[in-house]
Amino acid sequence: MGKEKNAQKSGIPKTSAEWKEKLTEGQYRVLREKGTEPAFCGLLWDNKKVGFYHCAGCGEKLFESSTKFESGTGWPSFFSPIDAKKIKYAKDEGFGMQRVEVLCAKCGGHLGHVFDDGPPPSGKRYCINSAALKFAQKNSRLRPIAPVPL
Ligand SMILES: [Zn+2]
Repeated sequence: MGKEKNAQKSGIPKTSAEWKEKLTEGQYRVLREKGTEPAFCGLLWDNKKVGFYHCAGCGEKLFESSTKFESGTGWPSFFSPIDAKKIKYAKDEGFGMQRVEVLCAKCGGHLGHVFDDGPPPSGKRYCINSAALKFAQKNSRLRPIAPVPL
């Protein structure tokens, strides 16, 4: 019979206490309490490295550096997620505004908002909090130059 251990494989916390243990204070405020970090204060708004942006809550790969653009807003901005299925949307009418909230489809963590003033080809601007993301730089040319014999 299979081992029960696998039940915990996803590692997604269920309770707020478990989330608090897993996340930093800033991550928790954004992902679980739908907070917004101050503009130009996050770690990733000005990141220009090549790689992938993962959900800070569950590790799911959400955005790629090739879809990141300079929006001038002070938050990491993307014109498209890596896969439409990885993102969930919700209506957000807080602060007297009509906005569309962007959430991680896997863990339900709040990432930011999406607006319709992005660049082509999508015309979308995914305005995401740095605290909701973890950046993983793409492996830079570590492959052997000589062909590997089979
Ligand atoms: Zn997630």
